[in-house]
Amino acid sequence: MWKSSWYIGKLFGISLYLHMSWFLIFFLVTLDLALGVFPSLHPEWSALFTWVLAGVAAILFFVSILAHELAHSLVAKKKGIAIDRITLFLFGGVANMEHEPPTPRTEFFMAAAGPLTSLVIGVVCLLFAGYLPGTFPAGVQDPLIVLQFLSPLALTLMWLGTVNIFVGIFNLVPGFPLDGGRIVRSFLWALTGNIQRATVYASWLGRGVAISFMAIGFLMAVGFVFPVLGTGIFSGLWLIFIGWFLYVIARASYRDTVIDSLLSGLRVEDVMRAGYVSVGAQVSVQELYELHLKHNQTELFMVLEKGETVGCIRYQDIVGMDTKERQKHVAADIMKPIEHVERVAPGDRVVTAYRKLSQRQLQQLPVVDTRGILGMIQLSDIVHWLHQEKRSVRSFG
Ligand SMILES: [Zn+2]
Repeated sequence: MWKSSWYIGKLFGISLYLHMSWFLIFFLVTLDLALGVFPSLHPEWSALFTWVLAGVAAILFFVSILAHELAHSLVAKKKGIAIDRITLFLFGGVANMEHEPPTPRTEFFMAAAGPLTSLVIGVVCLLFAGYLPGTFPAGVQDPLIVLQFLSPLALTLMWLGTVNIFVGIFNLVPGFPLDGGRIVRSFLWALTGNIQRATVYASWLGRGVAISFMAIGFLMAVGFVFPVLGTGIFSGLWLIFIGWFLYVIARASYRDTVIDSLLSGLRVEDVMRAGYVSVGAQVSVQELYELHLKHNQTELFMVLEKGETVGCIRYQDIVGMDTKERQKHVAADIMKPIEHVERVAPGDRVVTAYRKLSQRQLQQLPVVDTRGILGMIQLSDIVHWLHQEKRSVRSFG
């Protein structure tokens, strides 16, 4: 199955994941340092040394992004908001919050903690780099020449300090859901007293910022010169890419807010369907396949053995098999053992079930409590419910 994030470990009770896009940035950062920055300042370093130092610098960059995300999460935890996972991706990280912060104040401190951490790391690195002994020829003023006389450690710290300050400033861009956008939202929330309305305004602003990035990027690519940003096709395309990315996340977080508010207060037991389709453990996979064709909606089959549910099979597990294979195997051969099956409890929020279903691209989840399997919750039922609700609350957004 397609896997977009890898589990790497646990810190302060928070699971850490690496998103695949992060490998791209790791590769690009290492490449940029090993082929660009380091050789241009220190052509005398060996290739091996240059590459190793570039790799170490890229790892330190990763650690500082992690510190940024942990700062958000630790403030959240202190305020009683559970953070179950952090995913590091292309431009930084995302901490999965169980729910929105309870007050504008909390949101402000949570959002500000990340960029503040990056800026502090940045300044500390630069200060250390400045204090490390270097053998400068007398009277050198040109910063580029000074860089050439820095030791490998001082140069790495100088680079790390600069990128951290860049990360701190980039995250302060007021494009929700970036930290800067969250800070803006906390103010709008305090002003309007309504988090949903504040989110709608903040994500409009986010989309505006995103479109401006793309427009400036386009102008840079065709030769216009901007202060600080400069000009050129490469920088222009890079800015267009960042703008596009900001646009996508602003729109997605807007949609999440709408869905959250439409589903708020709704529990799994309100939407679930009692009953489910179960099959014997010795039923052939071919029979299962025909059963699916007969009951079009059934995507998930529970497998029974001696009256007890022992596992489940999803339609997607068998659709790729050919007829011969399906006739050869029985349900027990290919089922997923019940203890590993993704599930929800009847008292869970429907939003939680919706997230699980859409993140894992599933159609149905079993609803389970101490009594056993009570029924199924279906993505199509939640979507249907959302459409009905949307009609009745048109005024929203
Ligand atoms: Zn952040």
